[in-house]
Amino acid sequence: MTADVVIVGGGCMGASVAYHLARLGITNVVLLERESQLGAGSTGRNAGGVRHQFSHEANVRLSIESIRLFEQFEDAVGAPIDFHQDGYLFLLSMPDDVEAFRSAAGMQRQLGIQVDWLDAAAAQALAPGLSVDGVEAATFCARDGIADPNGVTMGFAAAAKRAGVEIRRGTEVTGIRVERDGVTGVDTTGGAIATRTVVNAAGPWAASIGAMAGVPLPISPLRRHIFLAAPPRGGWSAGGQGGTAAAPASRIMVIDFATSFYFHREGANLLFGMGDPSEQPGFDITVNWGVLDQIAPVAARRLPALADASMVKSWAGLYEMTPDAMPVIGRTGPEGLFAIAGFSGHGFQHSPAAGRILADLMAGRDPHFDVKPFSVERFARSRGAAEAGVV
Ligand SMILES: Cc1cc2nc3c(=O)[nH]c(=O)nc-3n(C[C@H](O)[C@H](O)[C@H](O)COP(=O)(O)OP(=O)(O)OC[C@H]3O[C@@H](n4cnc5c(N)ncnc54)[C@H](O)[C@@H]3O)c2cc1C
Repeated sequence: MTADVVIVGGGCMGASVAYHLARLGITNVVLLERESQLGAGSTGRNAGGVRHQFSHEANVRLSIESIRLFEQFEDAVGAPIDFHQDGYLFLLSMPDDVEAFRSAAGMQRQLGIQVDWLDAAAAQALAPGLSVDGVEAATFCARDGIADPNGVTMGFAAAAKRAGVEIRRGTEVTGIRVERDGVTGVDTTGGAIATRTVVNAAGPWAASIGAMAGVPLPISPLRRHIFLAAPPRGGWSAGGQGGTAAAPASRIMVIDFATSFYFHREGANLLFGMGDPSEQPGFDITVNWGVLDQIAPVAARRLPALADASMVKSWAGLYEMTPDAMPVIGRTGPEGLFAIAGFSGHGFQHSPAAGRILADLMAGRDPHFDVKPFSVERFARSRGAAEAGVV
C-alpha cells in the first residue's frame, strides 16, 4: 500500500491535520490509531477547557484562531461540539502571579482580547459559592469556555473521511523507514505503508514515534487527575452560605492559579482537578486516590460546598510536557517527518489552529503565523520564552 501522507495518532491533533490537509485537496492520506477508537489517548481524558489567557503570545494567537473555529464549528466542520463561552476566571493570590498576569493581560488586549482585571469581590460575584480568601486580584475573559473534545475530534475525522482520507483504527505503527535522510514508509501491525510523509501526532507517546526515526523529542508524559463531584441534596443552586448558591450555575471555569486547583460545572456535577508537584513522568494512568487527599483542603477552601461532596467518578490522563511547555509543530529530522505534539496540557483547545498551520507547512504554503516558537531546533539552542500558564 502507498499513501501521500501517513498520520500517526487519532487524537484531536491527528484528526485536525487530516481535516486541514483534506481542505487543501490532499486526500491520499491514511490516519493510523492503535486503539479501537479515536480520541482514546489524552483527548478523551481532558477537561475541555478553551481559553485566550496564556502568557506566551504564540499560544494566545493559536487560541484566537482556534476559538474562531469553535464558535462556528458545526456550520464549518459539520458536528456539534457543545461549546459554552461562560468564561475563565483566574484567581491570583501571589504577588509574582499578579504582576505576570497584569503583563499577560496587556499583551492579550493588544491582540484584541477583552480581558477584565477584577478585585476579589468582583471575582466572587462571577462565581457563586466561591471563597476569595487571600485573593489579591483576578482576570476574566468572557469568550473563554468549555467544549466537547470528542465532538471536535470526531467532527474533524468525519469531515476528513468524507473528503477521502482513510482512517484505520486498531493499527499500531511499529517502525518508520528512513533512507538517505528521507522518510520512505511506516511499518504497522497491519502491514507496511510506503510514504514520503509522516506526521507524528502521537501525543504523550510522540517521543517513541520520533525515536523510530532517530529523532529525539523532549516530550514526556505526566499524569493528571480529574474528579467529578455529585451535587448536594437540593442541587448546587442551594446549600451555600447565607442561602446563596453553593456553586455556579454557569459553566464558568475557575482556576486558583497558585495551587492550580480548578473547577467547572459538568452537567449536574462539578468537575475539578489540581496538579500534583510530586508526580514523576510516566505512562501510568491508574487513579491515585491519595491525590484527592491533597486537593481536598484546597477545594474546601475555595469552594466550601466541595468539602461535603461525594465523588461520582475519577480518571487520570497524560499531559505531554515539553521543557518550555510549548508544542512542536513542523518538520523534525529527516525529510518528510513532521510533528504536532508536546502541547503540555492545553492541546485540545489549540488543535484547530495547530492542524491548520501544520497542513499549510506540509503543503509548502505560507502559514501566516510565526512558527519559530514551535520549532524542534529551539531545544538545542538557548530556549525562548516558556508558557507560564500551565494549569
Ligand atoms: C487530565 C487532563 C486534562 C486536560 N485538560 C485540558 C483542557 O482543559 N484543555 C485543553 O486544551 N487541553 C487539556 N488537556 C490536554 C489535551 O488533552 C492534550 O493536549 C491533547 O488531547 C493532545 O492531543 P493529541 O492528539 O496530541 O494526543 P492524544 O489524544 O493522546 O492522541 C495521540 C494518539 O496517538 C495514539 N498512538 C500513540 N502511539 C501510537 C502508535 N505507535 N501507533 C498508532 N497510534 C499511536 C494514541 O493511542 C492516541 O490516541 C488535558 C489533558 C489531561 C490529561
